[in-house]
Amino acid sequence: MGTLGNPKSTLEIINKYEFAFQKKFGQNFLIDSNIVEKIVRDAGVTKDDFVLEIGPGIGTMTQYLCESAREVVAVEIDTKLIPILKDTLGAYNNVSVINEDILKVDIKKLAEERNGGRPIKVVANLPYYITTPIIMGLFESHVPIDSITIMVQKEVADRMQVGPGTKDYGALSLAVQYYAKPQILINVPPTCFMPKPNVGSAVIKLQRYDNPPVTVKNEKLMFDIIRASFNQRRKTLQNGLNNAPNINYSKEQIVTAIEKLGVVATVRGEALTLEQFAKLSDILYEMK
Ligand code: SAM
Repeated sequence: MGTLGNPKSTLEIINKYEFAFQKKFGQNFLIDSNIVEKIVRDAGVTKDDFVLEIGPGIGTMTQYLCESAREVVAVEIDTKLIPILKDTLGAYNNVSVINEDILKVDIKKLAEERNGGRPIKVVANLPYYITTPIIMGLFESHVPIDSITIMVQKEVADRMQVGPGTKDYGALSLAVQYYAKPQILINVPPTCFMPKPNVGSAVIKLQRYDNPPVTVKNEKLMFDIIRASFNQRRKTLQNGLNNAPNINYSKEQIVTAIEKLGVVATVRGEALTLEQFAKLSDILYEMK
C-alpha cells in the first residue's frame, strides 16, 4: 500500500520541498492511513474503475487509489504540488495529474475519452470552500457518475442527508437527494489532518440513482422553485416564489398552485418533501 498517510512521511515531504500550506486552497492533508484505506474501500474502487480524484494534495489518497483502480486522474490546482506528486506517484503508471481548477475541467469529456463514457467514480478529500459548486457541477452537467465518495465538513454532510422540518434541510439536501442516495460513512476529527482544520469532517458517499426517485416535467423549473423557496427561508413559500425574479408566475397562479398541492397557504418551503416540490413544479409547468 501507499507510503504516505502518517504524520512522519507527510512532514518529510513538506520539508523536502519546503512546501507552504495555502489556506485559500483549503489544504488540510490526511495523515491517517486507516481513514484513507476506509475511504477507498467504501468507495468500492476495483480494477475495472476509472477514478477522478479532486485535489490530490501530496498524493496520499492517490497512492491508495492507484493500487485499487484501473486508472486515476487527479486534478490539482496548486502548481507547487505538481513536482511533489511526480515524486510520490512515481511508482505508478496508471495515474495522470492535471494542474487545473476542477471547476474549469470538462469532466464529461474526460469520462468520454478515458472511460468510453461509462460511469466514473469520484473520490476526494474536498477543498471545503467549494464543496457545493463541485457537487452540483458534477450532477447538473450530467457527467456519467457511478458514485461520489468525499470528505466534507461535517455540517455539510448532515445537510446532504436530512429531510424536511430540520434546520439543515435546504436546496443542497434536495439536489443531492434527487440525483443520489446519500450515506454518511464516518466522522473524522481534526487530528487526522495536517494542518488541523477548525471544523469536524465526515466522509459521505453519494450513490447515483439510475433514475431519480421522483419524475418531474421540467427539472430546471423545479430547481428554480427549490432555490427560490430557500433563498428566503423565513418567508412563506408563496412569498418566496412571488419575490423570485426567475419564477415568472403571477401571485394568483402561485396561490392556486399551492392550493392544488394540498398544503396550507402559509406553508414554508422547508416543510416540503422532494415529491411535493416535484408536484408543485408540474402544477406550475402545466399552467404555462
Ligand atoms: N487529497 C489530499 C489529502 O487528502 O491529503 C488533499 C486534500 S485538501 C483538503 C484539498 C486539496 O484540493 C488541496 O490539495 C488543494 O490544493 C486542492 N484544491 C483546492 N482548490 C482546488 C480546485 N479548485 N481545483 C482542484 N484542486 C483544488
